[in-house]
Amino acid sequence: MPKFPSMARDGLANTQQRRNLQHATHTIRSKRATVVDEVPDWEELRVRGAAVKDQVLAHLDDYLVQLEASLTASGATVHWARDADEANRIVRDLVQAKEVDELVKVKSMATQEIELNEALEEVGISAWETDLAELIVQLGHDRPSHILVPAIHRNRSEIRDIFREEMGAVGTPAPDGLTDEPTDLAEAARRHLREKFLRAKVAVSGANFAVADTGTLVVLESEGNGRMCLTLPETLISVVGIEKVVPTWEDLDVFMQLLPRSSTGERMNPYTSMWTGTTEGDGPQEVHVVLLDNGRTSVLADEVGRQALRCIRCSACLNVCPVYERAGGHAYGSVYPGPIGAILTPQLRGTSSPLDQSLPYASSLCGACFDVCPVRIQIPELLVHLRTQVVDEHRGGRPSAEGVAMRTASWMFADHRRYEKAQRASTMSSKLLGERTTLGRLPWPASSWSGARDAPAPPRETFRQWWVRTHGSESR
Ligand code: SF4
Repeated sequence: MPKFPSMARDGLANTQQRRNLQHATHTIRSKRATVVDEVPDWEELRVRGAAVKDQVLAHLDDYLVQLEASLTASGATVHWARDADEANRIVRDLVQAKEVDELVKVKSMATQEIELNEALEEVGISAWETDLAELIVQLGHDRPSHILVPAIHRNRSEIRDIFREEMGAVGTPAPDGLTDEPTDLAEAARRHLREKFLRAKVAVSGANFAVADTGTLVVLESEGNGRMCLTLPETLISVVGIEKVVPTWEDLDVFMQLLPRSSTGERMNPYTSMWTGTTEGDGPQEVHVVLLDNGRTSVLADEVGRQALRCIRCSACLNVCPVYERAGGHAYGSVYPGPIGAILTPQLRGTSSPLDQSLPYASSLCGACFDVCPVRIQIPELLVHLRTQVVDEHRGGRPSAEGVAMRTASWMFADHRRYEKAQRASTMSSKLLGERTTLGRLPWPASSWSGARDAPAPPRETFRQWWVRTHGSESR
C-alpha cells in the first residue's frame, strides 16, 4: 500500500466525505464533552482505567490462564490463535462442522483485523454483518472508516441508494419508495436483518471486555443486533483480542462508566450483553472463544508502546483529530484509523511497508487525542517513539532528502556567518515571489514536503537588517 499522504489524497479531494465527517465527528464530540463534564471524578476514573489496564498488561499471562479456566468451567471451549491465519482456520473449521453456509456477526474489530469475512467467503460461507453501519459498509462493497461508526463517511441519501440497489441481491429487499429518513432506513435494515437473525444457526461476535474471574464476555452496542446474535443462534463463536481481559467485575465497573461517555456521548449505552459460557435450554448451547494474539505480544514487549493495548476502542481520539477529520478513515489502510490506528497498526503489523512507516507521521501532535482518551494513552509520546523507531530502522544506506536537508541546516546553524548569509539569500529570494505570502509547491525533492504544506514566504527583511535600517548600526 502507498504511504499515508498518498492514501489521504482521495479523502482530501472528496468534499462530500469531508462534510459528512465534519458533521458527524463534531456532533459526537460535543455530546461527549457534555456528558463527561457531568462526572465530577472523571479524571480519577481515567486514572483508574489506565491503572487497571496496566495491571492486566503487566500480568497478562496469569489473567489469560485464569480467563481460560473460568470460561472452560462455565461450559465454553477456548481456542488460542497466534495470528490471523490460525484464528480464521479455527473459526472456519467450527462453522464447517455445523454444515452451514452462512452466519450472523455482531460488530467485532478483531474479526475485521484478521479479515474473517474474506476467509469464510473463500470456502463459500457468507458472514452477514448485523450492526447497521457495518451492514451499510458491507452492502456498499466499501471499507469501514471509523471504529464506532464504520459508515461515518456516508450520508443518508447515499445509504438509501445502497439499500435500494443492494439489499435485494442478498436477502429481503428495501421497501418500494424508500426515503432517506432515518426511521425508514432503520426499518428497512430491521426487516432485512430479522430474516437473517431468525435463520442463522451460527453467530460470530467480538467482546469489549472479558472478565477473568468469572469467564464473562461483554458486548456494548446501540441497536440490539448484538443481543439477537448472542441469544438466537445455536453456536456462538467469539473472537477476542487477548488485551480485552479485565480481572474482576469491580474493574469492569470503571470501563462501563468510561466507555459509553467517551464513544457515543451517552451516560449509558442502550444494550449491554454479558454471557458466561452456556446455560442449558437458554441461548447458544455451544460457545467457543478464540483468544487472539496477532501481534499483541510483540506490542506488549515494548515498554513504551504497550500502552496502546490499553485502548478500549471508544473512538474519542478519532472524533477530535484534525488529521482524521480531513483525511478520512480509509487513508490509514487499516481497520484501526485515526490516532489509535497511527500507533497501533504499525506496532501490530510492524513497520516494513511504506504505509506502516508513514502512519506515525499522520498526526499534527496537537495532543487532543490524549486529552480525550479515557485510559490516558499518551498518543503523541507514542507517535514520537514510533517515528524514532522508523528513523532508526533507516539509518545507513543512501541518505534521504530530509536527512540531507537536516544535515545542511545543522551545518548552517552551527556558524553565525553562514546563518546570516543564508538569511540574506532567503530575503533576496523572497523578492522574487512578488506579492505571494506562501511558497506554494517547490520543485523535487522539496516537493515531497511542500506538496502538503503552505509554508510562509520568507520575510523581505531580517530582524538584523531592520535594526540596521531603523537604528543605523548593528550595535545597541
Ligand atoms: S486510544 Fe483512547 S481515545 Fe482512542 S479509541 Fe483507544 S481508548 Fe478511545
